[in-house]
Amino acid sequence: MLQKFSPDLVLDSIYELNIKKLQDNGIKGVITDLDNTLVAWNDQQVEEPLKNWFKTLKDAGFKVCILSNNSSGRVEEFAALAGVPAVSKAVKPRRGGFRRALEQMELDASETAVLGDQLFTDILGGNRTGLFTILVTPLSQNEFFGTRLVRQVEKILIRKLKKKGLLY
Ligand SMILES: [Mg+2]
Repeated sequence: MLQKFSPDLVLDSIYELNIKKLQDNGIKGVITDLDNTLVAWNDQQVEEPLKNWFKTLKDAGFKVCILSNNSSGRVEEFAALAGVPAVSKAVKPRRGGFRRALEQMELDASETAVLGDQLFTDILGGNRTGLFTILVTPLSQNEFFGTRLVRQVEKILIRKLKKKGLLY
């Protein structure tokens, strides 16, 4: 059961992503969470480093899709600024949103990675879909109140995963 919450890789931030390494492992696309993964919660700015990050991925031939549980207005506006496709109201960890993102990118789960800051949505959903899952440290403490509650349970889960050697 715990295995489903175990990410394949843990990074401090999206900027640590090693594109070459992903390619060597047959990864051709990245599904990325939005809030607290790409930008702080509800931050609508697409700053230069983030623009460059998207460009680096695209230049390397990667397909990218934003996958967020947030509202369509928020997500679509951000996606337009970032110049990448997006799936909003994804209801992660359910698989439907992940599948829509894969369809959008025309990739199979086995050749796609997912980046996100939450075990209960991004990592659980990604593992259930068969993606390569990458956990990043949340960018800020500022979150939707529901998420703040989930974080309390997540803390316990993280402790358990570390104890079992499923999280480093
Ligand atoms: Mg998030």
